[in-house]
Amino acid sequence: MDSIKNLLTFIEKSPTAFHAVKNVASELEASGAIRLAEGDKWELSAGKSYFVTRNMSSVIAFTVPGEADSLRIIAAHSDSPAFKIKENAELSVRGKYTQLNVEKYGGMLFAPWFDRPLSVAGRVLVRTEKGVEARLIDVDRDLLVIPNVAIHMNREVNDGFKYNAQTDMMPLFGDGTAKDGFKKLIAETAGVPGEDVLGNDLFLYPRIKGTVVGHDGEYILSPRLDDLECAWSGLKAFLAAEKPSRGINMLCVFDNEEVGSGTKQGADSTFLRDVIKRVFIALNKEKEDVYRALAASFMLSADNAHAVHPNHPEKTDAENCVFMNEGIVIKFNANQRYTTDGVSAAIFHKLLKDNGIPCQHFANRSDVAGGGTLGNISGSHVSINTVDIGLAQLAMHSPCETAGAKDVDYMVGGMKAFYNTHISVAGDGEFFIG
Ligand code: ZN
Repeated sequence: MDSIKNLLTFIEKSPTAFHAVKNVASELEASGAIRLAEGDKWELSAGKSYFVTRNMSSVIAFTVPGEADSLRIIAAHSDSPAFKIKENAELSVRGKYTQLNVEKYGGMLFAPWFDRPLSVAGRVLVRTEKGVEARLIDVDRDLLVIPNVAIHMNREVNDGFKYNAQTDMMPLFGDGTAKDGFKKLIAETAGVPGEDVLGNDLFLYPRIKGTVVGHDGEYILSPRLDDLECAWSGLKAFLAAEKPSRGINMLCVFDNEEVGSGTKQGADSTFLRDVIKRVFIALNKEKEDVYRALAASFMLSADNAHAVHPNHPEKTDAENCVFMNEGIVIKFNANQRYTTDGVSAAIFHKLLKDNGIPCQHFANRSDVAGGGTLGNISGSHVSINTVDIGLAQLAMHSPCETAGAKDVDYMVGGMKAFYNTHISVAGDGEFFIG
């Protein structure tokens, strides 16, 4: 139960990708990992752990082994679908209401955002004597609400209603007197005068706290389980893993998965490739050593999966379907939106089996496209054997999702076993595990 409490606290303290990365970085630093900057010269030594962030919203951590002959990489994402506040942040309604002007970040379920307390968090850029400085802020109080239209004014709503992001989703910030108050509130929260706020990346977040539900406490209910559950599990496994004698343990938490990963800090950027190359340069390795290590490397692309829905079991494949609390999910897709293939599934399956961790197999219904995730995207920059995994959950992309309480320890245990297992390759097609 400790792990559930810690996970839910981590998620609560991480209302945005910026906060998630800050919290990952603080735990890494507390464990003795050394912070690097992309603009500095890197000097690395065996036995030590390091991390580097990009855009304050993606982070890569790694432990340098005695022999850097391969990489064991776990990737997860820091962002979740939410509403982003536009630059001109306020809207006035008949002089009596002040709303915030928001747009969609990622694809979310709209309905569960209504009629619940929301707040604002993110990053602001403030003027300093020497230039500009980024600060994370969290208003951290019940601040906003997106009110539903009453059933009396929208009688057909329960027959299926199409929400419009521009007209239906604007949160109520205050009455007419709240006008011009938002910028002031943000500046106050950042601790600077209003005119010193020069830029921002601010998001709405739901105020609900993660909790345990179910007859026997078998489920967890929380915002952002996709994908902070996997990001947190990766971090715990990274910190708990033995110092490797062979192979680099690496943890990547990427931003912008929910909008296609195509940013300078996303999985579709050079971030991972840059870090790998720089590690080998700092270790005085030859160019060929990088290619040899990549040939023997393995990645877990960790992002949550769809559990069978209790009201709609027909939405999932009859046999390749997964349930909460039944272990780590290995995801398959013939069109390779998930990177798993026979090789990566076999290696990971063996590893889990050897460590007594349950796993299950998922594929979408054959008439459903499903979503891609990190592995297939980062694979175009760093091409290595990858298996797509996750934990079974319900209501993906709702501001409050449901997952299995037991699965948290399965994921941490599976990831830790991965970091502690040396995988090497002979030729093309034979693998030595352990
Ligand atoms: Zn995800």
